[in-house]
Amino acid sequence: MGEVMPAVFLGHGNPMNAIQSNAYTESWRSFGQCIPRPKAILAISAHWYLPETAVSGSLSPETIHDFYGFPRELFDFNWPAPGSPELAVRVQKLLLPYDVRFDAHRGLDHGTWGVLCHVFPDADIPVVQLSIDDRKPPEFHYEIGRLLQPLRDEGVLIVGSGNIVHNLRAYAWDDEKMQPFDWALRFESATRKLILEEKDRDLVAYRTLGEDARLSVPSPDHFLPLLYVLGLRRNNESVSFPAEGIEGGALSMLSVRIG
Ligand code: ZN
Repeated sequence: MGEVMPAVFLGHGNPMNAIQSNAYTESWRSFGQCIPRPKAILAISAHWYLPETAVSGSLSPETIHDFYGFPRELFDFNWPAPGSPELAVRVQKLLLPYDVRFDAHRGLDHGTWGVLCHVFPDADIPVVQLSIDDRKPPEFHYEIGRLLQPLRDEGVLIVGSGNIVHNLRAYAWDDEKMQPFDWALRFESATRKLILEEKDRDLVAYRTLGEDARLSVPSPDHFLPLLYVLGLRRNNESVSFPAEGIEGGALSMLSVRIG
């Protein structure tokens, strides 16, 4: 058995990060440079959130431009990483007895390519996506993370992509450097503390964390990828935060690295 791969949650933020260079994209790039080269990548993105559990098995997944109102340049951007039907089948087996649909056509959404294009600019490592089943409670998503743990011994990098604080109603589209809302700062710091203290149960029960949680996580899609990554943590593994910052007052860019 080779080295154990780390697992990482990346706060993806504004889709424009895909074609920009800033402190966040630099941190994603240096993460890619300092880990063992993965055989394949399994991504769990906030932007494949639907009422089923599915895995993408296309040999050459297309770059899906799943957003509106952004510059042409972003729609023209392609990140042509290959897929891996083998990894998709392996994921299906690991998640038994849960039924995971093999989707031979699904491409990669911007939650996935928008960060991975910086982590692995050469687009030469196969990528598979696992959907987030919106019918399931938070416990389920954490459990899926636990079931996927063996992949870390098989050279697979698992990447969760979302945002720990993600309130687009409060987000200042015209002022990314706006001072963070107090509730955003408090919820992000509470989350960070619970991660360091390994209080996974409390994070799974994030809805019970009060008004700050309600404002920071108005819908579960961007928070849930974190629970998969926490489920991948083994006893006494180190945790670090390779990127941090709050954009537009209401969008946390915190990244969480396990191992
Ligand atoms: Zn997003």
